[in-house]
Amino acid sequence: MKFDINKIRSDFPILKSSVNGKPLVYLDNAATTQKPQSVIDTVTEYYTTYNSNIHRGTHHLSNLATEAHEAARKTVQHYINAGHEHEIIFTRGTTEAINLVAFSFGEAFVKPGDDVIVTTMDHHSNFVPWQMMCERRRANFHVVPFDEHGDLRLDVYENLLSEKTRIVAFNHVSNSLGTVNPAQDMIRMAHAVGAAVLVDAAQSVQHADHDVRELDADFYAFSGHKIYGPTGIGVLYGKTQWLDAMPPYQGGGEMIDQVTIEKTTYGKLPFKFEAGTPNIVGPIGLAAAIDYLNGLAFNDILAHEDDVFNYGRDRLLEIDGMRIYGNAKRRASILAFNIEGIHHYDLGTLLDTHGIAVRTGHHCTQPIMTAFHIEGTVRASLALYNTREEIDALVAAIRKVLKMLGK
Ligand code: PMP
Repeated sequence: MKFDINKIRSDFPILKSSVNGKPLVYLDNAATTQKPQSVIDTVTEYYTTYNSNIHRGTHHLSNLATEAHEAARKTVQHYINAGHEHEIIFTRGTTEAINLVAFSFGEAFVKPGDDVIVTTMDHHSNFVPWQMMCERRRANFHVVPFDEHGDLRLDVYENLLSEKTRIVAFNHVSNSLGTVNPAQDMIRMAHAVGAAVLVDAAQSVQHADHDVRELDADFYAFSGHKIYGPTGIGVLYGKTQWLDAMPPYQGGGEMIDQVTIEKTTYGKLPFKFEAGTPNIVGPIGLAAAIDYLNGLAFNDILAHEDDVFNYGRDRLLEIDGMRIYGNAKRRASILAFNIEGIHHYDLGTLLDTHGIAVRTGHHCTQPIMTAFHIEGTVRASLALYNTREEIDALVAAIRKVLKMLGK
């Protein structure tokens, strides 16, 4: 259980690689995380020894694959402390999970003139689907702004909430500002007016509290690839009472009970929302990632990430012309910045020549960029395997780039 950073780094084979002749410093974890060997081995083992379609097979391999796939559902259920296994729906990622709710919840519960609330700091995937739903259902789309520090304006939120509010959606941790939003309070406030809440947990399930029952979230969405698991697999948690009352998102195989020319009846949860052959190995790989995390103490992960984050913030602020975006009361993992006189894209590209992987641009949050009157930022985003030494390498590389540019 001891948090041994050297051991952890050795579990992630890609971290040993070099880029442009320099040791890789991977600081693009909000985009996607690297995978421990155990996840890679689990996926390889599946394809090597028991690849098969699931749920309808009578043969040995199909039974093995079905068992592993459904055991993964339990692993996810326990990780987020969901009340029931059938409340875990496997999707392609956070984006598909949110689109599913925006469509199916919208069909079932949203009428013309109802209100839907998101925030200015939401990722496009937790913004556009709700806009689309509001257009379809002729509902009103409301957006909670944030202040100059990157904290949500909870006073505005409180004023927007009313008995017309059907659903509120917000990210628990912002992928562009690192703000950790007060999810529990925001959910309590929404419930007080009878509204449901979707928590976009793409950046929080690995960096913050993720107990869905403690949060009392109605829906909770995240992506496997940002929590050390494979791409192409995501999770939607939903409370049974909502999922049962919502129509299917897609039609096809697996999601039906009986099909006749006259009428189709739908299957039970979770299969009602899982049409077609699913990503079979995705959940199995995701469960291996969760098992890996369960082998560590979550508080140790948070303490380590916090330490590297605070160190990174302080070291970056030593650089002349540095502006870090977001200074919220609680922050996690994200260091987004610009340096006066340098385009974010140029800085990111030049950092790559030093083996440093960061992301540049609007990070799928154009409303945040608009609020700051900028086009984009450089974003260094942390995971459990990052170190203070890597922050030193980032800062040294920035200084070299500045010198090269004559700054
Ligand atoms: N929400 C947030 C806060 C994110 O950071 C991301 C990914 N950057 C998403 C949603 C979308 O995740 P995915 O692309 O895996 O569906």
